[in-house]
Amino acid sequence: MTGAWTIPIMHAMFGHLPRARLATLPTPLERGPELPGGVRLWVKRDDLTGLGMGGNKARKLEFLCGAAVAEGARSLVTVGAAQSNHCRMTAAAGAVLGLEVHLVLSGDRPEQATGNQLLSTLFGAQLHYTGADESHWGELMIASESLTDELVAAGAAPYSIPIGGSTSTGAAGYAWALAELLDQCDAAGCAPTAVVHTSSSGGTHAGLVAGKALLRAQGRSVPEILAIGVAKGVNIGMPDIADLARDTADLLGGDRSTVERSDIALDPNWIGDDYAVPTKAGDAAIRWAARHGGWVLDRTYSGKGFAGLVGNAEAGRWPEGSDVVFIHTGGMPAVFAPGGAPAGL
Ligand SMILES: *Cc1c(COP(=O)(O)O)cnc(C)c1O
Repeated sequence: MTGAWTIPIMHAMFGHLPRARLATLPTPLERGPELPGGVRLWVKRDDLTGLGMGGNKARKLEFLCGAAVAEGARSLVTVGAAQSNHCRMTAAAGAVLGLEVHLVLSGDRPEQATGNQLLSTLFGAQLHYTGADESHWGELMIASESLTDELVAAGAAPYSIPIGGSTSTGAAGYAWALAELLDQCDAAGCAPTAVVHTSSSGGTHAGLVAGKALLRAQGRSVPEILAIGVAKGVNIGMPDIADLARDTADLLGGDRSTVERSDIALDPNWIGDDYAVPTKAGDAAIRWAARHGGWVLDRTYSGKGFAGLVGNAEAGRWPEGSDVVFIHTGGMPAVFAPGGAPAGL
């Protein structure tokens, strides 16, 4: 199958969805060095999606903001951890589209904004600090609901985006990404056994799984999708990735039953103590990626995700000589926040 094959099909599936052009696509696919276990590494550079310094949320925001604009929204509300990449990219999307942006964040207002908070402020968003604990996402949702109500009452016509943008509309961006990736693989002589990525709110995972199921239903041969869970929620099955993938397949005009339970693979062994708490394996992966590919990974997401990929390769999950793609989901601005890089570099 060549590149001319998948994209027209995807256009047919996505044609009815409003889309705001926010990301620089396609992102590059790079060949990396060989990994332990003889696996050939490839890196899909979704850290280079362009929007507000890049990352995976740009693909979701294309469809989420498309829906917001189609509804006549004049403002965006979303939620996240203190160093949320999703919030930073939503702030950038609002700047591009001329929408007011409100970010509901965990923690307290710092004396000096750094990393993602600095960028969110620069992009003109209003940051609302809740004082909530880093991983208490329920508290953030409640605070964001009451803020949304206030904005409705004030006539600001808000469009509310849940944590990580992980609705079926957002996840559609990653169904598109899988088609884009498989076309690039064909052109590059890469036949991926697996596509590995970091998972926290689950939308990236669900979108990739929906894309896999839809492309398989069209007769395409498709790789394993392996998520490395870095938040407690996804590691205990919240959200239910199969349900979200089925909703996404449905949104794209496919049959819900094309998504099979066995399409969902999640490795929960790389989170360490908790979400956003660094691990030794993650820090080692950050150093390795920096020194072998000049790739910048972060300690909350992509570092732990890449550690999971290396760990599975070492354990022999994939046969020697297999092509394995790591989707680099971004996170670079957090490296410039206090504690954002491993000590002793
Ligand atoms: C949000 C994020 C993820 C996880 O994506 P989800 O769709 O929320 O699971 C991974 N890496 C980075 C850098 C992120 O910002």
